[in-house]
Amino acid sequence: MPFAIRIHQPGGPEVMCWEEITVGDPAPGEARVRHEAVGLNYIDTYHRCGLYPLQMPSGLGMEGAGIVEAVGENVTDLQPGDRVAYAGGPVGAYSQVRCLPADRLLKLPDDIDFRTGAAMMLQGLTSAYLLRRTYRVQPGDAVLIHAAAGGVGLIACQWAKALGATVIGTVSNEAKGALATQHGCDHIIFYTREDVSRRVREITGGEGVAVVYDGVGKDTFTGSLDSLRVRGMMVSFGNASGPVSPFDPLLLSQKGSLFLTRPTLMHYIAKRDELLALGIELFAVVSSGKVRIKVNQTYALADAANAHRDLEARRTTGSTILLP
Ligand code: NDP
Repeated sequence: MPFAIRIHQPGGPEVMCWEEITVGDPAPGEARVRHEAVGLNYIDTYHRCGLYPLQMPSGLGMEGAGIVEAVGENVTDLQPGDRVAYAGGPVGAYSQVRCLPADRLLKLPDDIDFRTGAAMMLQGLTSAYLLRRTYRVQPGDAVLIHAAAGGVGLIACQWAKALGATVIGTVSNEAKGALATQHGCDHIIFYTREDVSRRVREITGGEGVAVVYDGVGKDTFTGSLDSLRVRGMMVSFGNASGPVSPFDPLLLSQKGSLFLTRPTLMHYIAKRDELLALGIELFAVVSSGKVRIKVNQTYALADAANAHRDLEARRTTGSTILLP
């Protein structure tokens, strides 16, 4: 019988249990996938602690790569033996085997291995929609990317640089600064000890950046608004430091007729053709070498609680995978 990480109530990493599960045959429209690697993402901690509520008991995890074992009725474009990867719901990737809707799966190109596939799908598709859909980065744009040495951060910095942007990244320490510099950042700001918006104004000759990609949330929100050029785009896409406090929209006017969006990947890949189009863009930048996927931490899937502890304590860089 296969095993999976399950939770029976929201809470800290200690609520995660390694349990035997039953996985039946795939229902119509589904495929059964044996995971070779599972991706760790910050959203998994929101699900675990209850910030994003789940029906209990529940699995965890939104990303994986593996081999199709079986397909249900009406699945015509996949067959047993296919190498696939996916990101997004339904929750439950922290498992050795699972069934999920076949239209959520992408075939992995031959030159992308399972570990890279599991590491890149969610953070890579996120970088793809942020840089190519939410605000389309243009050559010459100055962009600010928070948590530049993180999973999304390292991918987004490289990709923004490849698109011709001047990339400003924030990090908490020197080692992360060096890593972000090696992955596309032109300028590093240590946001734990420097005034972010003042440094951004210095770097951009007073103008501010065209767009801020802010996955840190509560701690960085105001500084991000203050870093934007007139009519700049504030993209608040995560809550690593906690959710953003309520605020007065008049601030957007006062700070330069700013745009604000709070996007989520799920709304950019809800339709199969949207998922395919973003996936093609992602696979292309990875296969071309413009974006290198850094798997900097690997844990046994059964040890996912420790992976969560390290992620929440800011001890990780780049992408993290869990091996079933
Ligand atoms: P990361 O690898 O970026 O890890 C989080 C990083 O955030 C830390 O390493 C740390 O970097 C920084 N950070 C700043 N303040 C805190 C804090 N108080 N506690 C913990 N970390 C902090 O994670 P991911 O790449 O998985 O995700 C990055 C963000 O993007 C998350 O907020 C996530 O929810 C969001 N996201 C949103 C998506 C969407 O569609 N909306 C999709 C995917 C991710 P440092 O030490 O340099 O400060």
